[in-house]
Amino acid sequence: LSNKKFHPQPTYVKVGNAEIGPDTMTIMAGPCAVESEEQLMLIARAVKKAGATFVRGGAYKPRTSPYSFQGLEEEGLRYMQTAREETGLSTICEVISEAAIEAAAKYVDMIQIGARNMQNFQLLKEAGRSGLPVLLKRGLAATIDEWLNAAEYIISEGNPNVVLCERGIRTFETATRNTLDISAVPVIKAKSHLPIIVDPSHATGVRNYVAPLAKCAIAAGADGLMIEVHNNPACALSDGPQSLTFEQFDSLTDELAPYAELA
Ligand code: PEP
Ligand code: MN
Repeated sequence: LSNKKFHPQPTYVKVGNAEIGPDTMTIMAGPCAVESEEQLMLIARAVKKAGATFVRGGAYKPRTSPYSFQGLEEEGLRYMQTAREETGLSTICEVISEAAIEAAAKYVDMIQIGARNMQNFQLLKEAGRSGLPVLLKRGLAATIDEWLNAAEYIISEGNPNVVLCERGIRTFETATRNTLDISAVPVIKAKSHLPIIVDPSHATGVRNYVAPLAKCAIAAGADGLMIEVHNNPACALSDGPQSLTFEQFDSLTDELAPYAELA
């Protein structure tokens, strides 16, 4: 179902008024975690002004340590809903359980399956049954075929609204948090009709590397980007070191304009 051989035309995934696919430029931007209503509104307004089409923000955070901030859960989803009402941006939030999918269905436009859950087959089936548009991130050590099989789990439940997201894979290199597999973009385009976006924030873990890799992703043919942006990265509850400031995000979207028509 994800294979281009049996579905040669590219898929466009509709999310509210937005459409993700070739010749559209989807920019999802926002904090790693929703920390407060005030923080989310500030960021949502800033990223909208800079040209983002989605605001992202985690309400359920799958943290490496159980002692790290775990997210505001349903309260965070409610702030996402307010952000959409205030800005008109589409909203996306990661889900980590069936209960989170049910809650997200009430408040946000698109759900995200994170890298750590890419092979949580039960969660994939539930995301499929939800019918909601799904952003499926590549697992930390998943091959492209394993990733496409994960997409297959969602689509085979009757939900064709899947967008893939390359977010870096684990390699021996330690200079960056992960290694962005830019070749995944043309490989996915050759094998599948599904849209693919790139997340240079989680791929690098380093703010200064985000812009060059964002440009690289667009040049390679990605249908969009996911970028972490924070009003005060030094005080972010998660992923501060990779979060762009408003000024940095502004100049990045300016620099991207020649690569693709921005909304
Ligand atoms: C995220 O996007 O908030 C996230 C946790 O990303 P990943 O699953 O790619 O690590
Ligand atoms: Mn993050």
